[in-house]
Amino acid sequence: MANTDNPLLAHGDLPRFDEITPNDVEPAIRQILTQGESDLATAESALEPSWTGTMEALRSVTEPLAFAWGTVNHLMGVQNSPALREAHQAVQPEVVAFSLRLGQSRPVYEALNHLRASDDWDRLDEAQRRIAEASLLQAELAGVALDGAEKDRFVAVQTELAELGTQFSNHLLDATKAFALVLTSPSDVEGLPNSLREAAAAQAQTAGDAESCTAENGPWRMTLDAPVFIPFMEHCHNRDLREQLYRAFITRASNGAYDNTALIDRILELRYEKGRLLGYETPADLSLASKMAPDVEAVDALSLRLREVARPHAQRDLDELQAYARAETGDTTYTIRHWDVAFWAERNREARFAFNDEMLRPYFSFDRVLTGMFELAERLFGINITAADDDTTVWHPDVRFFRIADSAGEQISSFYLDPFSRPADKRGGAWMGECLNRTERPDGRITRPVAYLVCNQTPPVGDKPSLMTFDEVRTLFHEFGHGLQHMLTTVRYPEAAGINNVEWDAIELPSQFMENWCYHQATLRGLSSHYETGAPLPDELFEKILAARTYRSGSQTLRQLYFGMLDMELHHRYQPAGSETVLDIVERVSRDATILRPLPEDRFLCGFQHIFAGGYAAGYYSYKWAEVLSADAFSAFEEAGLDDPSAVAETGHRFRDTVLALGGGRDPMTVFHDFRGREPSTDALLRHCGLADAGCSH
Ligand SMILES: [Zn+2]
Repeated sequence: MANTDNPLLAHGDLPRFDEITPNDVEPAIRQILTQGESDLATAESALEPSWTGTMEALRSVTEPLAFAWGTVNHLMGVQNSPALREAHQAVQPEVVAFSLRLGQSRPVYEALNHLRASDDWDRLDEAQRRIAEASLLQAELAGVALDGAEKDRFVAVQTELAELGTQFSNHLLDATKAFALVLTSPSDVEGLPNSLREAAAAQAQTAGDAESCTAENGPWRMTLDAPVFIPFMEHCHNRDLREQLYRAFITRASNGAYDNTALIDRILELRYEKGRLLGYETPADLSLASKMAPDVEAVDALSLRLREVARPHAQRDLDELQAYARAETGDTTYTIRHWDVAFWAERNREARFAFNDEMLRPYFSFDRVLTGMFELAERLFGINITAADDDTTVWHPDVRFFRIADSAGEQISSFYLDPFSRPADKRGGAWMGECLNRTERPDGRITRPVAYLVCNQTPPVGDKPSLMTFDEVRTLFHEFGHGLQHMLTTVRYPEAAGINNVEWDAIELPSQFMENWCYHQATLRGLSSHYETGAPLPDELFEKILAARTYRSGSQTLRQLYFGMLDMELHHRYQPAGSETVLDIVERVSRDATILRPLPEDRFLCGFQHIFAGGYAAGYYSYKWAEVLSADAFSAFEEAGLDDPSAVAETGHRFRDTVLALGGGRDPMTVFHDFRGREPSTDALLRHCGLADAGCSH
């Protein structure tokens, strides 16, 4: 049964994309799992409390699977097909089961524990100790250390939590689907963008609202799906219709057949119980055990500080909107209600920064942007990026391949770039994926890191190049930032190389850091010019990009803080079946973290998927946490002088040697300190958001 020709079994080198077919998936994965099971059993019986006897020994079990399954998952994202989906689905449960068995191996856990208690521990390097510590913690959080009744209870709690999470999502999905507002009069859709009318008419057609539904004549079916709901609230001129849709949105999944109310209470109750079983007082303590934020107090302190600064700005945003709406309507008593905010904010935005994507696109042709971005990376980090498309095979003709060398010309890493949207077989969004992780082997061989950078930007049309929106440019910088951390790592062990083993709330530091450069005029100049005339980006357009960045940032900041604080209160200060209900907590938190207080019937929590069915429980704060880090890191360059090449290079090399190089091999706060020479400060974030002129500055 050994099939050595199967390209998915050829781990350690670049995937042979010209050979891999969906037919290879099942035999390769099954063979790897069978081998893995027996290798794991052998390894478990021979584990020794040493680095070689544990982590190195396990690598022969994990590496083939990581390569094959990683490649399959990558193809699921970029070259999806019914055959591939079927093959993926056929083996996925076995892969999950094997990964669980590995992560919950008691012999591995015990061997690592012995290693930690032995004299050898001090002889391990910092990265090795962090890898072992993280493996131990992950195993403990998976319940490995529990025995007897506690273990049984833990498994029961985990099982019920998984079911409740699925139910929560399904309710939300079904409740969203169950609601529709079917509009028939052209006056009802006044102001709506054509793309929304088209989508709404298509929905009406599918639902059979009329025999023939068109964007021009309707009927139009408005739903609570974000791609419909958000533009509707921004553009619908009819205030009553906005109110109807808004009220439906904030009460989603809070009554009737799809009610999440009771699920929320039960999920929280079980999470508190799970925390206690694992030795934590609250679910928040459990969540933070594996994050960069040291404790709840540190998260609270950051939230409170930002809240105090953002509040007056958010109040001013609302006052301005009110005045604007009164002036526009000629009604001096007009009072902004919840369903008016997005609408007037959009009108005001259009009036103040009269520019749109289409005006910027001609200045951002893909090749120009790419060249400019690579030149920036070369200036900052002393690396050299060159096209090497002929060196390997790819999964689609649009995909590019690049190599990175250091200043001495030595090859460090490489990456694939799959830039364009391809709705037929490619998932939406943008991401960085790991193809190969940096690994120094005991025999001296080194595997160099390889990344996948995947975007979904506007493709070229005819002989017109891909002309990017500003958002697409920012997204490319963002993913490139993740890629740089993956590729410029110097860590010797794949378990902590690049983005591996980086705490969840620190992982967005390099990506958001790179985005900051899109707001630096000289950098933006370096990656833009009119694709036909070669003219530089006009200064007034740049000024508008800058102004749009801080538009209503007080309101946006406060909104994020509200969600984060609510999340933390529910997972740290709530007492299941205590005197304060979940709704009381919403009421308490919203008092200081919202300007327009939620309506009494608001059941936002019933739709708060991030924390009840996603991975963000007691982790929503991470968005702000990472923003503070990335803004503060960028401010090191501002202090050194953004337009001073040698200062930029010096600071850039320090960033490369710390944040990008050390990855998950060192405590993230220490890494930050290594780079910045001090603890993170919120000053830079507030300044970048235009919030620096109010509140106290420490
Ligand atoms: Zn990211």
